Amino acid sequence: NSPLSLKASEQAALVAKHPCFSKEGHQYARIHLPVAPACNIQCNYCNRKFDCSNETRPGVVSKLLSPAAAATRFVKVKQHVPETQVVGIAGPGDPLANPKATLASLKAIAKVDDEVHLCVSTNGLALVDQLDSLLAAGVKHLTITINCIDADIGQRIYPWVYFNQRRLRGREAAQTLIDRQLLGLEAAIKAGMLVKVNTVLIPGINDFHVEPLAKELGRYGAFIHNIMPLISDPSHGTYFGLMGQREPSKEELNLAREQAGQSMQQMTHCQQCRADAVGKLGQDVDISQLESSSTLPV
Ligand code: SF4
Ligand code: SF4
Repeated sequence: NSPLSLKASEQAALVAKHPCFSKEGHQYARIHLPVAPACNIQCNYCNRKFDCSNETRPGVVSKLLSPAAAATRFVKVKQHVPETQVVGIAGPGDPLANPKATLASLKAIAKVDDEVHLCVSTNGLALVDQLDSLLAAGVKHLTITINCIDADIGQRIYPWVYFNQRRLRGREAAQTLIDRQLLGLEAAIKAGMLVKVNTVLIPGINDFHVEPLAKELGRYGAFIHNIMPLISDPSHGTYFGLMGQREPSKEELNLAREQAGQSMQQMTHCQQCRADAVGKLGQDVDISQLESSSTLPV
């Protein structure tokens, strides 16, 4: 399962510092910086009013930050939570559909802390195009959300994909996205990144498909697989999940993880955090309180 171009010692160091890539990384904290509003695809489980559920909890809106404000927030958070080792960009849209803001933020962070671990989450559509820039910015941790590798399934999840100045629909849209995700996955692993793959488990749509999907991810050399349950909660305003799709039960989620676990190491501790999450996993710091606090220097 190990990435092709990452030496075992380098991989172990990357794994140990990131709370999402290993349980030993739980002593460290992460901060998500909401700097990326736009998206280049549409997922049926996203209504664009809320944060990207590629990586983060849908139904929660983050206040967008400029790259400079993101760096300021990081400095403040690091003072308050010194264990903050990982800075992730995960939304509220797709970070790579907002390359300017994402790269400017990553560079601003690296300038104030050259030891920080930089992490990006993406739907993968623009990954091949942006990979060199991400590497140059120092990104070593990457998450790609891949919900399926079959375009017949994909066309039920993605109503459209915007690629090469064209809005694609139906099977063509799904196939384009899947091809680009797998190309990006392969290139990122070859370049030495530690790659996690997220899959949103949607009953009746892709739950019967996790086994072949995980097999393919293992073949490519992805490091860990994070199967996340679809969150479908009408109390989040207009958010109803995939055309009214229900959430998977705990048993269905466990079964999917068990099936996928035959080929891929499974992450079972994902908190489906907000795009502006701060702190150790499960011990989130309230960012609005922190930013309004007058006792801390900015
Ligand atoms: Fe929404 Fe994220 Fe899907 Fe884009 S990739 S449509 S922001 S869930
Ligand atoms: Fe980690 Fe999951 Fe939170 Fe992402 S959403 S930071 S993978 S726990």
